Amino acid sequence: MDSQERNLRCEIITVCRKLEAKGLIAASDGNVSCRAGEGRILITPGGVAKGDMEAGDLVTASYEGELLEGTRKPSSEIKMHLHVYRNRPDVFAVVHAHPPMVTAFTLVGFPFNSKVLPEVWLSLGNVPTAPYATPSTDEVPQAIAPHVGRSNAILLRRHGALTFGSSVMQAYMRMEKLEHAAKIFCYASVLEDRKCPAVMADNEIKKLEGILK
Ligand SMILES: [Zn+2]
Repeated sequence: MDSQERNLRCEIITVCRKLEAKGLIAASDGNVSCRAGEGRILITPGGVAKGDMEAGDLVTASYEGELLEGTRKPSSEIKMHLHVYRNRPDVFAVVHAHPPMVTAFTLVGFPFNSKVLPEVWLSLGNVPTAPYATPSTDEVPQAIAPHVGRSNAILLRRHGALTFGSSVMQAYMRMEKLEHAAKIFCYASVLEDRKCPAVMADNEIKKLEGILK
C-alpha cells in the first residue's frame, strides 16, 4: 500500500467518524468510497459501525464490483457507487448516508429546493429525489441514473441521500450541508405565518435588570 492510499484510508475513516458524530448515520448505516488508482476503488465494508471503523477494515474493489483486497465484504451498496464512477469521470469520492431530516423529507414528499438559500444553491445546485429502489439491488443505480450526470447531491426516497465530490471531504461536506439546509427549511416552514413568542412584561424585565446591577 502506497502513502497515497494510506492517506485516502485515513480520510475515509475521518469522514465515517464525522458522519456518526453529526448524526447523519446510525451504527453501520451508510457507505463511503473513493477512486484508488487504476481500475480500483476503496470502499467501506458492510456491517461495521462507522464510528468504530479502522483503516484496515476498508476494502478495494474493481469497477466490476469484485473484491480485490481486504478481509471483509464491500458495502452492499457498491453498485450505486460504481454507477456514479462510471458516469462521472470528474467525481473522485461518493458518500451515502441516512440523514434524519433529509430522509423524512423523502417520506412525506416535502420538496428540497436549494433555490431557497443562495449559499445552498451555490454549493449543491439542483437536488433531485430518486424514486424508491430496493437497497443493494440493481434498482438503485437505475433509480439514480437520470440524475447522476446533472447533480452532486441526490435524495433517495425512503432511504437517505447520496453526495459526490472531487475529494472525500468535499463529498462529505455536501452531505453535512444537505442535512443542515433541510433543518433550516423545516424550521422555516414551521415558523411561517406564526407569531413571535410573547415578550415578558416590563416589570419582569425590570426585575432582571436589577439582577444585572
Ligand atoms: Zn443506505
